[in-house]
Amino acid sequence: MAETLLKLSPSSATDFKSCPQLFKFRALERIPEPISSAAARGSLIHAVLERLFQEDPQRRTPDRAGQLLSALWAEVRKDPEIRPSGLIDDEEEAWLDQGRSLLTNYFRLEDPRQLEASQLEWWVEYELPDIHLRGIIDRLEVLDDGGWILTDYKTGRIPGENRELAAFFGLRFYALVCWRAFGVIPKEIRLVYLSDPAVLTLNPHERMLLSFEKQMQALGKAITRAIDTDDWRSRPSPYCMHCSFHDRCPAWISANDAAPDPN
Ligand code: SF4
Repeated sequence: MAETLLKLSPSSATDFKSCPQLFKFRALERIPEPISSAAARGSLIHAVLERLFQEDPQRRTPDRAGQLLSALWAEVRKDPEIRPSGLIDDEEEAWLDQGRSLLTNYFRLEDPRQLEASQLEWWVEYELPDIHLRGIIDRLEVLDDGGWILTDYKTGRIPGENRELAAFFGLRFYALVCWRAFGVIPKEIRLVYLSDPAVLTLNPHERMLLSFEKQMQALGKAITRAIDTDDWRSRPSPYCMHCSFHDRCPAWISANDAAPDPN
């Protein structure tokens, strides 16, 4: 039996659902991974938007966002835990330009001068019987009528129509935590896609969150069972394209072993 209550964020829950072996590498063994260009840019953009909302409303302009991007990157660009693996100095400006494009798109979707964030990069958590749910919500707004809006910024591509509900996995996770921890079912959850750009919204309700809570409890039991039996299935899928563990993954190692010797 697992000794401590299993801690799960939306991303680690997604890892287990996609591939238990990947979850083991990341969440249990904590094997360091190279920082992808897209992930590093996503983190930088999140930091810029967090700082932008700390400015007085009238200063939340595209120019200010651009200044923040340059200033924040200057602070961390030499940090190997933040800089994308393999990014050479000659490519840096082009890489930053892609970040600037995302910020330009952001201002096509929202006018931050008209918004008031009650919380930014907000740490939330809640314990279910078998599982401890936790993570960081990008932004919370509390409306005049008391309604809560949770916003998650996305720097990847918008999902196809049949993947939209799956794309809301993280925000349904946070809506459940808000409901259980604070007694508030958010009025709206919003995915703000900066690359397309587009906003997807969903209105959570009690039945949706009860069903999601059952899913999380079942997931907690499945992970606990995998820990107890040390049974971690590799599940090859398109997800493998973004996985950095091909050299350790049993599915990939056995596939390579089975490949005919070209010589
Ligand atoms: S390479 Fe694919 S199957 Fe292997 S751990 Fe990664 S996601 Fe799972």
